[in-house]
Amino acid sequence: MEIAYQEKISENAEKIMKDIPPNVILLAAAKTRSVQEVDAVIQAGVTHIGHNYVQEAGPMIQMIGDRARWHMIGHLQRNKAKLAASIFDMVETVDSWRLAKTLDQRCKDIQKIMPVLIEINSGREENKTGILPEKAEELVQHMEVLENLHIQGVMTMGPRFGDPENSRPYFKETRKIFDKLVSMDRPHMEMKYLSMGMSNSYKIAIEEGANLVRVGSKIFGARE
Ligand SMILES: *Cc1c(COP(=O)(O)O)cnc(C)c1O
Repeated sequence: MEIAYQEKISENAEKIMKDIPPNVILLAAAKTRSVQEVDAVIQAGVTHIGHNYVQEAGPMIQMIGDRARWHMIGHLQRNKAKLAASIFDMVETVDSWRLAKTLDQRCKDIQKIMPVLIEINSGREENKTGILPEKAEELVQHMEVLENLHIQGVMTMGPRFGDPENSRPYFKETRKIFDKLVSMDRPHMEMKYLSMGMSNSYKIAIEEGANLVRVGSKIFGARE
């Protein structure tokens, strides 16, 4: 890959980091990107990388290793939970009891405690991943018995809009769930992260309380 291209990626990442408050973590969403592209954002100072696909993330994580924290941000199938348990530092997309139970077991198998976020389907969209807002509390209560998963917050995608301002109500709703869970004092739970906002919406998300934003195309360029 051309040096100039890597420099452009580093520059994009630096610009966003300068722009956001210091308490907000910029996570680079690396799906479809190469190791060189991801390397460029790490050189710019990005510390958190997200991936959507367990199998593609494997070799990338092997090559880059602990120069970054690795978050699973795509839908996790239960048959991939074993590999996910071994390679990721956090799974942002726990959205069902069945998945939580399987992931907990796979983590137990390798004696690992996995930080997780609960993914909220804040738009209540059919065929979208995430648990419905009104079901989140119940899931968290069930998960109390899962000793190898530590709930550290919530994540949402929300519906996609041309105008990011339209995302605001969904971020507000997710923030409410976050606050509700903060007020529940339960074992294996320490609410720290509110993961919302992408390239076009991260500014609005931060206004609504996000402290973890997941940005892809605004760093790496448009996806093919
Ligand atoms: C791809 C992706 C992002 C980043 O999307 P961009 O619009 O490219 O910034 C964020 N979160 C998740 C879960 C994604 O899959």
